[in-house]
Amino acid sequence: MEYAQGIVVSVVAGYYFVEHANKIYLCRGRGKLRLDNLAPMAGDIVLFSPGKEGNGTVEQVLPRRNFLLRPAAANVDAVVIILAPQGPQPNLLMVDKLLALLVSMKLEAILCVNKADLDPQAARLLAGIYRDAGFASIICSALTGHGMDELSQMLGRRTVVLAGQSGVGKSHISSQIALGQLELPVQVGKLSAKIGRGKHTTRQVSLLPLAGGGKVADTPGFSVFELEMESHDLHRYYPEFLNSGQCKFAPCFHIHEPDCAVKARLQQGEINPIRYENYVKIYTELQEREANRY
Ligand code: GDP
Ligand code: ZN
Repeated sequence: MEYAQGIVVSVVAGYYFVEHANKIYLCRGRGKLRLDNLAPMAGDIVLFSPGKEGNGTVEQVLPRRNFLLRPAAANVDAVVIILAPQGPQPNLLMVDKLLALLVSMKLEAILCVNKADLDPQAARLLAGIYRDAGFASIICSALTGHGMDELSQMLGRRTVVLAGQSGVGKSHISSQIALGQLELPVQVGKLSAKIGRGKHTTRQVSLLPLAGGGKVADTPGFSVFELEMESHDLHRYYPEFLNSGQCKFAPCFHIHEPDCAVKARLQQGEINPIRYENYVKIYTELQEREANRY
């Protein structure tokens, strides 16, 4: 029996939608998968046996490069952090925490300043903070459509998850860049009748197709997260701190130490003061948590 290789684009109540050669197969998992504790998740590359009428059986989940739990998605290439100059007021401390987390996970971060139509100048300032720090960042407006092509181009073939505060425009951006809903196989109508609408179905995640061949998760991520890391590791996740030259002390956490190359660059205006202030805040928070741990 020949196996085909496909990608799981949606998971609903123990059914897996596997895309292969521009067609989506409705699959169950081989019992062994459950025994191996390897339930396929959206984004998984799987080997499956295609059956008749677009059905199939998932035989094996290929090794994941990474995975997220909320939303449940595997092999994610990038997280698009969306913020807005206003409505809601940007929470840059949250953005910096999320960036540190993503860098520590070796996940690419793309900054997307939406609602530029409301305040173009503030949008440029925000995008500049993160571009100067070394992150890809773009300015857009899901309302006017400005920047949507640029965002699509930037995402290309990547599998991405959107993140950001409530109200920044995640669902509007998603509906602008996604090519539409998944074209699910015909059996899905019967299936949804069988499993009931929203009843005892685990939260479904679907990957919607993007113009460049990539995919975007239809459920945003990182709405709540705890930054789990050692305070002493935090500085490693600030790209703009690297290549600052030699601090006098090694290791240097760039806070109270004298002759600190990072603080020197801060004074010269080469490191953004908001980024640095938030670094100190996050560092202090992590230290407090560590002090309470014992
Ligand atoms: P989400 O909570 O992040 O998914 O945000 P939504 O996509 O639901 O958008 C929240 C609100 O912001 C809605 O009222 C949208 O109409 C509005 N909105 C989204 N994008 C833009 C934009 O680019 N400009 C403006 N002015 N409003 C926007
Ligand atoms: Zn230093």
